[in-house]
Amino acid sequence: MDARGDSPQNPITQALLAWYRSHARTLPWRAPPGAPRMEAYRIWLSEVMLQQTTVAAVIPYFETFTRRWTSVEALAAAPEEDVMAAWAGLGYYSRARRLVECARVVAGLGAFPQDEAGLRALPGLGAYTAAAVASIAFGQRAVVVDGNVERVVSRLFAIDTPLPTAKTLIRDGADSLTPDDHPGDFAQAMMDLGATICTPRSPKCLICPVAEWCEARAEGKAEAYPVKPPKVAKPARIGTVFWITREGPQGAEVWLVRREGKGLLGGMRALPEDGWTARLDGSRQPPFAAAWRDLGAVTHVFTHFSLTMTVQGATAPTPPEGPGEWWPLARIDEAGLPTVFARAAARAMAGLELEFP
Ligand code: SF4
Repeated sequence: MDARGDSPQNPITQALLAWYRSHARTLPWRAPPGAPRMEAYRIWLSEVMLQQTTVAAVIPYFETFTRRWTSVEALAAAPEEDVMAAWAGLGYYSRARRLVECARVVAGLGAFPQDEAGLRALPGLGAYTAAAVASIAFGQRAVVVDGNVERVVSRLFAIDTPLPTAKTLIRDGADSLTPDDHPGDFAQAMMDLGATICTPRSPKCLICPVAEWCEARAEGKAEAYPVKPPKVAKPARIGTVFWITREGPQGAEVWLVRREGKGLLGGMRALPEDGWTARLDGSRQPPFAAAWRDLGAVTHVFTHFSLTMTVQGATAPTPPEGPGEWWPLARIDEAGLPTVFARAAARAMAGLELEFP
């Protein structure tokens, strides 16, 4: 049955809202259905954290951030390096820089803009985040399409055009369902349905509240939607990371640098490396001549490439050239290293243990 039509009478919309009232997930950034809306700061923060990251991974970071910076003004006043360090491990670090930038703009404005266009103008807010904040925090009608919504809508309407061409059709489908009343609840209901029932594999059509209108279910091939574009292999890069240590006044220390500017992992504390990028292998040239030892290798998959990084170790009683700092090995967990470098550090320490048991 094709249920496309004007909201709010749309039966799919009604069924979803009814289902949400009794099945909404409990999340630290969410007000229960019918309760007063959560403040925009928490909704914006959670939405930025949730970009390309799972709910389970975000929850502890969200709780730490909101305990430490209780308002957008507090976050705006924080040193960027503190925010970057608190973000370490969550990935996609450009989000953390944009987070601080956005907090400062909002603090300057005095409050978050309440409409989608005003939100879209803020740093780091794409179409999805602006629509999500407008509808969930401010009750504005906005068409919210994330990966979950994309999957649900493409199945409901059996949209057989491959992504990304299908995005316009999917947005139109979501638009046809979005109600004027309770648009925030509706957006969250769609997200919850996608996360808990209409899952990528083995969707639970038997208990789905909108099953009777779902075209993909009627065809018996729910998992075929959304139709994916043909796969393109990620480039594989090779790099080297340098584990430079000395015996410091308080014990063993390792040389850490701060990565430059706005590039990959820019602004983050890191181990020195040989200049690998998403497009180039590293030079394999160490920063100085020494008896370098091979301490193993780590592989890390970024969005657009995978990297296999050899870990080379040497001691250097004097600081290597260029800016950096000696960091106590006993506190390496507190350095805020991004995951790829934290793995390399763990690899280096394991390698040294094998070499000098
Ligand atoms: Fe998804 Fe199945 Fe529900 Fe359709 S019926 S929306 S495929 S869970």
